Amino acid sequence: MVEVPTAEQFDLVVVGGGPGGYCAALYAASAGVKVALVEKDALGGTCLNRGCIPAKAFLETAAVHRHVQHAADFGIESSAPTVNFAVTQQRKQKIVAGLVGGIAAMCKGRKVEVFNGVGRLGPDKVVTVTTANGATTDITGTNVILASGSVPRLIPNFERGGPILTSDEVLDLDHVPERVAVIGGGAIGCEFASTFADLGAKVTILEGLPKILPGLDGDVANVVVRSFKKKQIDIRTGVMVNGHTPNDSGGTTVHFGDGEDLEVDAVVVSVGRRPYADELGLDDTGVKVDERGFVVVDEFCRTGEDGVYAVGDLIDTPQLAHVGYAEAILVVKQTLGETALPVQYDRVPWAIYCHPEVAFAGPGEVEAKEAGFDVVVAKHPFKFNSRAQILGETDGLAKIIAEKGPDGRAGRILGVHMVGPWVTEQLSGGYLAVNWEATVDEVAEFIQPHPSLTELFGETVMALTGRSFNG
Ligand SMILES: Cc1cc2nc3c(=O)[nH]c(=O)nc-3n(C[C@H](O)[C@H](O)[C@H](O)COP(=O)(O)OP(=O)(O)OC[C@H]3O[C@@H](n4cnc5c(N)ncnc54)[C@H](O)[C@@H]3O)c2cc1C
Repeated sequence: MVEVPTAEQFDLVVVGGGPGGYCAALYAASAGVKVALVEKDALGGTCLNRGCIPAKAFLETAAVHRHVQHAADFGIESSAPTVNFAVTQQRKQKIVAGLVGGIAAMCKGRKVEVFNGVGRLGPDKVVTVTTANGATTDITGTNVILASGSVPRLIPNFERGGPILTSDEVLDLDHVPERVAVIGGGAIGCEFASTFADLGAKVTILEGLPKILPGLDGDVANVVVRSFKKKQIDIRTGVMVNGHTPNDSGGTTVHFGDGEDLEVDAVVVSVGRRPYADELGLDDTGVKVDERGFVVVDEFCRTGEDGVYAVGDLIDTPQLAHVGYAEAILVVKQTLGETALPVQYDRVPWAIYCHPEVAFAGPGEVEAKEAGFDVVVAKHPFKFNSRAQILGETDGLAKIIAEKGPDGRAGRILGVHMVGPWVTEQLSGGYLAVNWEATVDEVAEFIQPHPSLTELFGETVMALTGRSFNG
């Protein structure tokens, strides 16, 4: 980071150094654009510092614990594992520091000028940067990208502090709480529930909706629920939390449902994230913010102000780091005068890294039918997959939803949904099929290596051709 220099004109000014912002800055700089990147905190944003990366580092510790616990099944005798979460925390911080340092180095290498301060957009695409010591300077961009991201949402009667944690505080823990209540059974809540349960905590998920992971295909969600139950995670759906009463030992009793109580050592409030336009200024600009706090954009991420764009969690699109990347690239291409196609949000890849993992692209079965498609569906379990058996990880399935052709056969692949071992690493074939609008017959021609987990995807596609040999 550099001290704020005198006012300067840039081709592109980016406000926010998370995935949306740093991708825009680096991608533009790689095309020779003169870029300023304004970040008030650490480069990398939520994703690197308080989100994707630290959460997955914790999940990997949980996986190691699981593997050691089951080592005897593989003929490896060892004593029962114990957890030193302070080491986990240090390891996570080292990974984060390495990645954040990598972004800073890439910015330097590509001559992106990084301003350490709060960026506020005023009229005429002037961004006023205020540093921690109160110094201000104005920089202007021919184009401006707003990428100030999001922060955890809170709920009434659950203020942060003591045993009440949002994802920000959870990721700073240096111990595993013995009893954990996770409020909210979405992707992030389920990742934390999975982590702590695998590390020996007693975990309860409190979800207001009738089921956890509501956006998932039903068959996939059922596998996660069954696996979570095997981990002794107590899933309470259709319950609303009302408040909590702290105790003297640092824990609290959560009040929920119809007069029920749950005593825990930590409460993870995981009820979604709200866009963070709070410090963006925007007065006297044409940039509009809707009633939920999202910056309003069109399908090209253009705001109401000419030459000002917004990307990432700040706009009302899937809150995923890689969606932020895609939007950033879409915007930079436009500013370069290149052809740029809007992001197809209904086909982006989704990945949830709980155990078992979930990954999908395109609609699930019910969603496809609701969208008016006549569909043919095939699903195959990991139970019979040789690599899954070798890994000792046989919970899960692949499910493919294809459009039914006029001949009654499966045609274009609409959705690929997977749950099970390393599926987040296996989705790319399915993602390509969905986005290439490939047909079942085309994809069935491709060979999968043997023995591999991806054979399940190949088998499931082949089943849709009406033939099969393995399943
Ligand atoms: C626990 C957790 C796990 C997650 N796991 C995944 C995952 O596995 N995969 C995935 O794709 N997504 C995941 N996400 C979501 C992902 O982190 C976000 O979608 C992504 O970080 C959004 O990127 P962004 O650039 O829009 O915003 P952010 O990452 O929030 O970055 C915004 C940046 O802008 C800065 N900023 C804000 N206002 C200003 C201002 N006025 N001036 C200067 N700087 C400002 C902030 O300090 C911040 O650094 C996870 C999130 C959490 C919380």
